[in-house]
Amino acid sequence: MAACLACEAKFDSGEVEIGEILICSTCGADMEVVAIHPLQLELVDDDEVGEDDADDEEDDDADEEEEFAA
Ligand SMILES: [Zn+2]
Repeated sequence: MAACLACEAKFDSGEVEIGEILICSTCGADMEVVAIHPLQLELVDDDEVGEDDADDEEDDDADEEEEFAA
């Protein structure tokens, strides 16, 4: 059994693998399996899905600061 990190609802995770995404049937939260023994879940935030996009945003901010300083 696993517990939803968002609404704490208990659900049967069944057989899962590390990296698998579980979706809470109660609140719809996406959780990634980060460990099996014991089962450990991590909430998947939509903002963290595109890590490459986040890096691009950081680069853009750095450029803006340089232009502002000059
Ligand atoms: Zn939930």
